[in-house]
Amino acid sequence: MFWDTPKFTSAVPSQLMPEIGSRYAVIDARVCTGIGVIDPGWMLVEDGRIAGVGDAERPAPSDCPVIDGTGMTVLPGLIDCHLHLSWNGVFEPYPFTFGESLGERLQRNAWITLASGVTTAREMPGFGAAELKRKIASGAAAGPRLLISGPAVTVKRGYFAYPGWGTAVKHARQVRSIIRKRKQQGCDFIKTVVPFSDALRRERNISGEILRAIADEARSQGLKVSAHSMWKDGLGTGITCGVDSLEHAPSYVGGIIEERILAEAACREIRFVPTADLLRRNYQMFHDREELLREADYQRNMPAKSLEKMTAGTEAMEKKQHRRPEVQRAFDQLFSCYLHEYQRSFNNAVDAGIQIAAGTDSGANYTPHGIIARELERYVRLGMSPHEAMRTVTVNAAGLLGLDEEIGSLEVGKRADILMVRGGML
Ligand SMILES: [Zn+2]
Repeated sequence: MFWDTPKFTSAVPSQLMPEIGSRYAVIDARVCTGIGVIDPGWMLVEDGRIAGVGDAERPAPSDCPVIDGTGMTVLPGLIDCHLHLSWNGVFEPYPFTFGESLGERLQRNAWITLASGVTTAREMPGFGAAELKRKIASGAAAGPRLLISGPAVTVKRGYFAYPGWGTAVKHARQVRSIIRKRKQQGCDFIKTVVPFSDALRRERNISGEILRAIADEARSQGLKVSAHSMWKDGLGTGITCGVDSLEHAPSYVGGIIEERILAEAACREIRFVPTADLLRRNYQMFHDREELLREADYQRNMPAKSLEKMTAGTEAMEKKQHRRPEVQRAFDQLFSCYLHEYQRSFNNAVDAGIQIAAGTDSGANYTPHGIIARELERYVRLGMSPHEAMRTVTVNAAGLLGLDEEIGSLEVGKRADILMVRGGML
């Protein structure tokens, strides 16, 4: 089975590294630095850091082992700003419903993510993340460097206010101790919500007062705030309350985002993490299921049992739509956005100067792991150039995570967190 024998080739850096030592160069490659492209170019690595990057005008180092990069592109390790490693792409809320051990599941999904070129990821939220983060950091498990949120901070009867998923508060004064505890527990950022976070608009909304208290306290603790959004109506509150990123924005529901909202987000340097391919998957799952399921990501990266559950769940949801008009309405609005409004909101956001940071939402419904390339493909289909799309998954994402001094671009002094792929796309 794929799960037991992941298909790495001999060109995987971790397998090459022990043979070439701590000082080596990659030569004759297309070097995509995250800032620009050098073709042909070279890169020198010393003790895990980038010690030099150059083009054909400057001779590549010849006094160390070299990796011939002919026909290959060197990139910064990719960053997925939004995933859930404890879920498989089908709604299974708690580990006892998984049908496999949590540890097994986490390690498999982390491995698939790493094999897709993602070397850093934000887990937001999920079960068992703290232990997985420690294991990966110590080398006991293979996976991307993890930044974790712990359970989301939300309001009673609000989105994420389910045991284990979130901590619900009633008043702004309760926020401080929760965020301090998250910091002590080793969380890297805070996950929360903006108003109108559920598709049916039935769950209780977070107030501006509580959201501002979350953003203020997180900032004082040196933590960034990532907020789930769903409807256009909630974005303004999130922006003025000072969150750092709006997840699933441009929003999936509610029409084209007003220019003043986009201008405000750009002015405050709030990043959008679109998880745009998820919207496409939602549409196709209900309109073109057979075609969608033929995609290799489903066949290769989702266990057969999860695939069956996901398909059965969608069929049940279709029946529910016919019985319950509010469910039908929510889906109609979601799909209308995919077909008519999303592209305009996306392009308007980019034109307004909002930085897009790539995120897949892998693990959420209909979304397998290991699909970062699909997400980037979606950005290009929505109108970005391939180079702009690469920035979303490297420099922009590193900036959102506060790791831009270390990773996200191939520059002298940064970590040699690098990826080599065959061919060249830019
Ligand atoms: Zn998510």
